[in-house]
Amino acid sequence: MQMSLSIKKPITFFVTAILCSLFADVAHSKSILKDVRINQSDDETRLVIDLTEKVKYKLFTLNRPDRIVIDLYQTDLAKGLKTKIKKSGLVNEIRIARNNATRVRMVIETSEILFYQLSAIPKNKNPNHRLVIDLKKAFEGSKKLAASSVNRKKFIVAIDPGHGGKDPGAQGSQVIEKNLVLKISKKLKKLIDNEKTMSAFLIRDNDSFPCPGNRSNCRQQESLSERLNRAKKGGADLLISIHADAFSDSSVRGATLYALSDSRKIRRGSDYKVMYRPKTNNNIRFKSTSTNKSLSRISSGDLDTQDQSIEIGKHILKEMKKDVRIRKKTPREAEFAVLKSTSVASVLIETSYLSNKDDEKFLINPRNQDKIAEAIVRGLKSYSASTRKELGKR
Ligand SMILES: [Zn+2]
Repeated sequence: MQMSLSIKKPITFFVTAILCSLFADVAHSKSILKDVRINQSDDETRLVIDLTEKVKYKLFTLNRPDRIVIDLYQTDLAKGLKTKIKKSGLVNEIRIARNNATRVRMVIETSEILFYQLSAIPKNKNPNHRLVIDLKKAFEGSKKLAASSVNRKKFIVAIDPGHGGKDPGAQGSQVIEKNLVLKISKKLKKLIDNEKTMSAFLIRDNDSFPCPGNRSNCRQQESLSERLNRAKKGGADLLISIHADAFSDSSVRGATLYALSDSRKIRRGSDYKVMYRPKTNNNIRFKSTSTNKSLSRISSGDLDTQDQSIEIGKHILKEMKKDVRIRKKTPREAEFAVLKSTSVASVLIETSYLSNKDDEKFLINPRNQDKIAEAIVRGLKSYSASTRKELGKR
């Protein structure tokens, strides 16, 4: 059973709670909370709550500060149980208290808004009934993109010309995709490097197929994750993957931009939920804990934000629309591998269709390649200006 609940509080303490409860078959037998264990690995933290018996519980999340609260019913605290657990991994602090005769409340204060997942593991060989809470970082890419784009420090763009080497991509009548997108990508790099506050690097700068460890050959999936790795290694705030489409129906034409919302970047079929969704125009706001500092000095840690890949995609499309035929006016969500990283924001641009004669004619004209690159740069600047404006409003 699951439901949403909004608690009215002053705006500054904007709160959203998600309630989630599970009922035990037997409600009478008291359970004892024996231990809370924390395991930390990379960007994930796991909490294991050891109980003597299965319990009825309720879980909800609060924000500002960010918390997961879990109420355990018909539960006692074991003697000597630590009721305050210090910072570990993504957990800032855990406070455990009995808050009425039958209820124990555990407040898990987290370092930021996270993805979380709760599962119950019944007793088997293990003498304890366990509740397991997995916490995972979710919005690093979005936060980094937003913070860097309003800062005075260099905004770094990784440009990924699709395909390459053994993989030609779409075939037009006069050009193949891998060559065309490399040309556009090089023009885009040059334009970005001309901007004072931006710099760019290419994931491939020749007719090669990117592979891990600079191997000469690898599988498609390996190449796609290598492209993301190169973007991360280069410290990219944004990855732009450039492609050109082909379709069996040659009348289909126009450019499409793809981007993924952050919650769709987690594995399909996983039970992760997000601790909250900011209710602002473009999903960007300051953390309650951030001090009033200049926009040129904000860090990703100062922001509560998500879905910035989509936000920047909107700005790029809006600018592209002025010079390029567009197929869809808003970013489309598609689970392409290069879009699925939660640590680097990313968009994939299909510059239009090589299977359409007019589109191909448009794309092979160097002046039009310039126009596409120029529109993308205008989009980056427009995103930065609007983010700056939104954050300046507080
Ligand atoms: Zn392609």
